[in-house]
Amino acid sequence: MQSFLENLRTEAGGSLSLAAGLVLTFTLGLWAFFEMARALWRLYGDRQEQLAAIEKLHNEVREVKLRCRELEQSQAGWNGCRKFTVAKKVRECEDVHAFYLKPHDGRPLPAFKPGQYLTFQLDLPGRDKPLVRCYSLSDSAHQKDYYRVTIKKEQAPPDRPELPPGAGSTYFTEVVKEGDILNVKAPTGHFFLDMTRMNPVVLIAGGVGITPMLCMANAIAASGSKRVAYFFFGVRNQREHIHKAELEKLAAEHENIHLHVCYSRPGPDEVKGRDYHHEGRVCIELLKAVLPANNFEYYLCGNGAFMKSLTDGLEAWGVPEKDVHFEAFGPATVKKKTVPPTPTETVHLARLEVTFSRSGKTLRWEPAAGNLLEFARAENVKIDSGCCAGSCGSCVVAIKSGEVDYISQPSSLPDAGTCLACVCRPKTHLVIDA
Ligand SMILES: Cc1cc2nc3c(=O)[nH]c(=O)nc-3n(C[C@H](O)[C@H](O)[C@H](O)COP(=O)(O)OP(=O)(O)OC[C@H]3O[C@@H](n4cnc5c(N)ncnc54)[C@H](O)[C@@H]3O)c2cc1C
Repeated sequence: MQSFLENLRTEAGGSLSLAAGLVLTFTLGLWAFFEMARALWRLYGDRQEQLAAIEKLHNEVREVKLRCRELEQSQAGWNGCRKFTVAKKVRECEDVHAFYLKPHDGRPLPAFKPGQYLTFQLDLPGRDKPLVRCYSLSDSAHQKDYYRVTIKKEQAPPDRPELPPGAGSTYFTEVVKEGDILNVKAPTGHFFLDMTRMNPVVLIAGGVGITPMLCMANAIAASGSKRVAYFFFGVRNQREHIHKAELEKLAAEHENIHLHVCYSRPGPDEVKGRDYHHEGRVCIELLKAVLPANNFEYYLCGNGAFMKSLTDGLEAWGVPEKDVHFEAFGPATVKKKTVPPTPTETVHLARLEVTFSRSGKTLRWEPAAGNLLEFARAENVKIDSGCCAGSCGSCVVAIKSGEVDYISQPSSLPDAGTCLACVCRPKTHLVIDA
């Protein structure tokens, strides 16, 4: 009996130590497993941090390279006109041609900011002075030995078919050919994408207003950055689908560029999903449906009605005015709000008289006109115009007496005794040669 009890105790003791051993092994195993998992997790975290640091470094290097290149190339800039050869002329779609321009002197091309434009002085037959016209650069500056502009022939207004089509754009479309030499002023303009920033942007274009937007999208792609760009482009149908193949390639090769093409009047053979993305116009409802939020910076270019409806829509959607940038190719119908003149200034301005000596008109200045060019237009006095931003020099007029104030700074001040009508208003009574 006693030996039986002893056996029992020994066996129980053995099982107990076995169980304790097992528990210990299991605990140690578990501890080792958690330690290993923790070490792996830490390693993974470190690796992610390293990758982020490398990405940041890459971005910084890219930015420095960009600045160096800009500096290097800007030193190769030019004053006045420089001769460019039309190296290639390509029909893009109905009434639209792309012109690839190479400097005739073979010297390097200065960089430019995506969104800027070139100013051409065209020697048209039968004109006593060159016709000045501005065209946006439609390709990025990245590693290119050419500048590209894309020009649409402007037809007579639909309600005045008896008028001739646009002089400059018709000349480009019908007369200018490969090998021709053109007089071109250096790239300029205040409407551009800041390539040193990485903030997401929305690019919105209507018709030929695609040109500065395509340049911006191309610049983002060429920079190799992951900067997000939503790109909305509205045309009637494929006949007006400028740079179609290039746009599709851009979107296919860069997942950060989200292209949305809208056809307002698709042709019978045009297929949604293949040729275009949305039926209808680019409108604020589409933007609200596509964009994850409204906190982007917006860049717009298109005709007056297009831009007016979108800028109004963006404002109503709560987008701050500072985040909406636009460019008009003709007389601006959308105006940035400006700081209104003080009551004393308004009283002074409203007393001033402007005399258009050639037209034989003397009128009281209308402060609401804003600038001299708009004032002249409202009174049917003809003053040439181009960029309407004080850059191209088309609207320069001689001052016979009086002084002007510049309401926004022109790229460079015109000769003494003249003014740039699109960016100035009278400071005193004024007599101008118009
Ligand atoms: C910064 C900027 C960038 C631009 N970028 C581009 C671009 O990338 N691509 C592009 O295609 N365009 C661009 N433009 C527009 C371009 O500069 C010209 O305004 C456009 O090509 C029309 O010029 P035009 O000489 O052909 O027409 P204009 O001769 O100026 O004629 C304009 C219109 O007036 C009509 N007209 C003719 N005679 C009369 C008359 N007696 N009375 C009333 N109307 C008349 C014409 O039929 C035409 O419809 C840009 C403009 C600016 C300011």
